[in-house]
Amino acid sequence: MKRPGTVGTLVIGGGPAGLAPLLAASRTDGLEALLERGLVVVERGPATGSGRLGRYAIASDSSAETFLTAVADHPDPSLALLAAHPIGRRIATYGRAAIPLSLAAAFLDLVGEAMSRRIAAHPRGGILTGHEAELVRRCADGGWLAHVRAPTGDLVEIRAAGILFAAGGRSDGYEAAIVAGQRLSSLGDRLVHSDQVLDRAGLEAVRMRLSTLQRPRVAVIGGSTSALSCLRVLLGSCGSMLEPGALTLLHRGRLVPWYRTELEAREDGYTAFGADDICPISGMVHRFGGLRYESRDVVRGALGLGGLVLDPRVVLHRLDGQDDENARRILAEADLVVAAVGYNPCLFPVLDERGLPIPLLADRPGMPLVGAGAGVLDRDGREIDGLFGIGLAAGFRPPASFGGEVSFKGQVNGLWLWQNDVGRMIADKLLAAASDDERAGRNDATAFEASIRPSLAAAARLTGGSVGSVASARRASASSFGSRSAAP
Ligand SMILES: Cc1cc2nc3c(=O)[nH]c(=O)nc-3n(C[C@H](O)[C@H](O)[C@H](O)COP(=O)(O)OP(=O)(O)OC[C@H]3O[C@@H](n4cnc5c(N)ncnc54)[C@H](O)[C@@H]3O)c2cc1C
Repeated sequence: MKRPGTVGTLVIGGGPAGLAPLLAASRTDGLEALLERGLVVVERGPATGSGRLGRYAIASDSSAETFLTAVADHPDPSLALLAAHPIGRRIATYGRAAIPLSLAAAFLDLVGEAMSRRIAAHPRGGILTGHEAELVRRCADGGWLAHVRAPTGDLVEIRAAGILFAAGGRSDGYEAAIVAGQRLSSLGDRLVHSDQVLDRAGLEAVRMRLSTLQRPRVAVIGGSTSALSCLRVLLGSCGSMLEPGALTLLHRGRLVPWYRTELEAREDGYTAFGADDICPISGMVHRFGGLRYESRDVVRGALGLGGLVLDPRVVLHRLDGQDDENARRILAEADLVVAAVGYNPCLFPVLDERGLPIPLLADRPGMPLVGAGAGVLDRDGREIDGLFGIGLAAGFRPPASFGGEVSFKGQVNGLWLWQNDVGRMIADKLLAAASDDERAGRNDATAFEASIRPSLAAAARLTGGSVGSVASARRASASSFGSRSAAP
């Protein structure tokens, strides 16, 4: 077996979250510092950039301008120029409105392409597309060794001082959840995950299924953007089949709308908030916990705000503990139950020096992958040295220093935070780990050339050429952007 390639930093997953800390670091000399100590991104797919985001047939829950801030006034011209790219210009026409996620994904692919070119151009940087991380193992000297499977089936071993887990989320295991005293698995094939309803192909399958029924009834479980998005896509695709009251949202917590300012909230007629619901940094009302854009309009309709009314086909039912008879009846009568109960992180084995599994808190469904410092948590909730996590299902709960309303107790899954506060924090920690490793004489640049360089060349050959052309190919084959769902 060859000597493992050595880098300061290994990023597993080249989707929006994996690239975010690198993007944050690229605003300063942070990215260059990471590259000088060796930086490799391993991505299972053919290109870095949008990950799975483009699959969803819905509009974003963040504004057009937040996607563009990633490149606005960027010191690297290859990123700054993306604002003037036709896709960037098209996003700009939406201003503060939401954009179709397919359009957001096309832009993130451009960002991925530019970032990949920059990383690949550095003598100690590399993008291993078409490669999959299989496990990570702690080395006796404190670093981490990753087993990465090449598309040829060959094993590539990479030793890193710090590893960032950014492999996204998975939507299995949700059947074990208990709602109104009932285990969801007991619903049998009437149960689907929200991910299926929000995905273009999955939504079509749901539409076909409901079209065979006389008067279909649907229940959606959850109070997040995903749950509200499911209501909207079902009304859009299957609306003509649904009678008044046919679509019920079963939600546990209070549904609250987000507002840019306190004044905007009051002008809309919304007064059910206090000082604890206002972000001390941005002044936004329900900054992290509030529903945005089209999902917000459902809530505004239910609360009778801004002249909106709730669609008569929709009923909102707040779950009343595990003895909620009404909720049990709604679930029993539903032809389809959509569980919008979140995602679990995509994980691979994490082993200690002896090759024995290190149990993680996230091995238990619904538990977070990371702590307040974005470190991966062991079974006892302690952050593990050198392992960090970010992205969908990482379960990151922002500390007070990041702002947000005091009343918010949940996790955040937003690109903006990943590309800014969270990304910067992680990039700094990865750099600290890489620098310590280098000072201790454990970072061997020759091992990069001997062990990683050949894999980089093979990755480029297998995925069709240079890093940039792969991303372009994916963009070219992607479907059209879909209809514009929000006015600029
Ligand atoms: C329905 C929905 C709508 C959303 N809308 C918004 C929005 O409007 N605005 C916003 O800011 N956020 C939004 N989010 C949240 C978040 O931005 C997206 O989910 C985003 O796609 C998450 O990025 P990610 O990198 O964590 O995961 P992914 O997009 O899943 O990317 C993970 C990447 O890791 C790769 N990978 C996985 N396993 C391995 C492995 N073992 N080895 C190598 N590579 C691997 C995958 O191929 C993939 O490219 C939304 C989320 C959902 C579910």
